[in-house]
Amino acid sequence: MAACDRLGVAYNSEFSPLSDLTFAVLLTRAGVRWRYAPLEGGICEIVWPPIYGVHLMQIDKHLTTAERRFAMRHGLAHVLDGHLRDLTPAADSGDWRSYEEAVADLFALVDLVPDHQIDTLPLDAAESEQLEEWVRQQATKHVSGWSEERLDHRARVRAYMHRWSRTGKKASRPDSGTAG
Ligand SMILES: [Zn+2]
Repeated sequence: MAACDRLGVAYNSEFSPLSDLTFAVLLTRAGVRWRYAPLEGGICEIVWPPIYGVHLMQIDKHLTTAERRFAMRHGLAHVLDGHLRDLTPAADSGDWRSYEEAVADLFALVDLVPDHQIDTLPLDAAESEQLEEWVRQQATKHVSGWSEERLDHRARVRAYMHRWSRTGKKASRPDSGTAG
């Protein structure tokens, strides 16, 4: 997220979720060129290591608008967090339990399920399990083909990130046992 600030776009601000236009500016400044193409095997996006400073991102053209928004944010996270140094493209067919996949999923969710929206929930819904369930419901609009386990994990961590950002405490840390 600090990388987005450096690129001049506030991320997880009161302007989240970013409009498609603003997000396109962010992608361009990050050196990403994207295109929609039919991808096989349930893969939503592939992002390639940079060639002369330009990353090519391919997005499955069959995705819904909500799924496309998630996939592009997920792919951008791989670029900004430096996951593409080893000349291997990052496709979302990898193990979701890996650290890189968790970072990319959560980067996408932080914008699509932003803190300021969570803040507007009725107070009791902002408590622990109810908050996780709500985040989970929001997340399902943006992804398809995820296991229950992956959904549960990402919702738990996203809710935890929100609590942490609001209280500054690391209390009630979610178990991260499945996040390799
Ligand atoms: Zn990925």
